[in-house]
Amino acid sequence: QSIREFIGETIRTIPDFPKEGIQFKDITTLLQDKRALELTSYMLAQPYRHKNIDYVVGLESRGFLFGTNLAQDLNAGFVPVRKPGKLPAKTLSESYELEYGEDHMEIHEDALFEGAKVIIHDDLIATGGTASAASKLVQRLGGEVIGYSFIIELSFLNGREHLIPNTPVESILIE
Ligand code: 5GP
Repeated sequence: QSIREFIGETIRTIPDFPKEGIQFKDITTLLQDKRALELTSYMLAQPYRHKNIDYVVGLESRGFLFGTNLAQDLNAGFVPVRKPGKLPAKTLSESYELEYGEDHMEIHEDALFEGAKVIIHDDLIATGGTASAASKLVQRLGGEVIGYSFIIELSFLNGREHLIPNTPVESILIE
């Protein structure tokens, strides 16, 4: 059994959450398992070691769970991207489309320096809207997106196509 298969078996699928027709990937069962927790941290860091990453940008809220740990493994800092009204200092905001309507993500405007090398991390990429908005926030602050990092990629939703072209997308599990 491969490491990826083992990690995959610790994630459970909850039907009809948060609404009917959605098969929700629940990583709380992965987090509970001490071996899966350690191996997931290891697998997330592996593609970006020795790449001189300055910041891991983690997306609210499940991108915070491994985000700070990934930052430490890469000898980088951690920057949160959050939903509107959560960050206390001055922010930049970027909107993205949802199935119905739109939503926003925010970053502190002093969160990173010009030319900073950044990894964008979240637990899961679906349509790519959230990671795309985060990419724009990083770029507006003058940061360079070196790559993306996800535990799960729902490839049938083609989220990759909404990310910055020619930028590595590292997903432990592709469904
Ligand atoms: P996207 O913007 O790519 O459509 O959606 C990705 C965002 O929604 C991520 O922040 C992710 O945490 C959340 N998300 C969407 N579907 C799921 C799911 O099935 N499981 C988990 N854990 N998160 C999901």
